[in-house]
Amino acid sequence: MSFQILLYHGLYREREEIRGKPAREYVSERDFRGQVRWLRENGYSLLTLGECLSRSERGELPRRTVCLSFDDGKRSDLELAAPVLAEEGVRGTFFVIPGWLGNPNIMVPEEVRRLAGMGMEIGSHSMTHPFMSTLSQAEMDREAADSKRFLENLVGTSVENFSYPFGDVDRRSRDAVVRAGYRTACGTRRGANTPPWDWLLLRRWGMHETTGLEGLRRILDRGTPTLLERGADWVKRSVGTDRYVRWRERILRRAGE
Ligand SMILES: [Zn+2]
Repeated sequence: MSFQILLYHGLYREREEIRGKPAREYVSERDFRGQVRWLRENGYSLLTLGECLSRSERGELPRRTVCLSFDDGKRSDLELAAPVLAEEGVRGTFFVIPGWLGNPNIMVPEEVRRLAGMGMEIGSHSMTHPFMSTLSQAEMDREAADSKRFLENLVGTSVENFSYPFGDVDRRSRDAVVRAGYRTACGTRRGANTPPWDWLLLRRWGMHETTGLEGLRRILDRGTPTLLERGADWVKRSVGTDRYVRWRERILRRAGE
């Protein structure tokens, strides 16, 4: 029994829409539709994270299960991704940041409610998207618990899934997530999720503009990260996620100049 989680950061219809943004993190609506269709046609069960947990607890996790997850609460989650999922009759898990709602290209509260109304699962991506490991315990608790409460009030259902901002997680932030009452939490380390399950640090595959259908097929067939990907995950853990992310951003910015 295993399942794999894909991580999207937003979609675009015309490439023009993402000018000046880190293109790597966006996927075109066309590619996304192609990926979802291909998964459906090739016998994959597309489940929300909550369904993955409950089905696996009952020992009923389908053999080929994929969960589609979305970080940051972009407006394209509602406008582009959700309609494709609805067309295909499947659901996804959307991790929202209450403190960001209403920012440019991010949903407003009412839009999150509409997303939930379409049957999509809403999870928390913290209150303000900090590096969790750099916070005091009280701050960590607030990030985890306040965002949960806010989103539960907004959508009217319980919010049980968390996504660590930047994939930054340590023993303390993990404990804060448990204290807040979440049942699952996602990081950004790559790979399939296999028993013994670690429901508080699930692995995910980042989907990029260049991944395409071929890339998706390779990922799912492989199930394990390449040596290079493992190396990157290791560096991130060793130097600290906050330092790693800032360093990577600086390099990407320089490359883009
Ligand atoms: Zn994020």
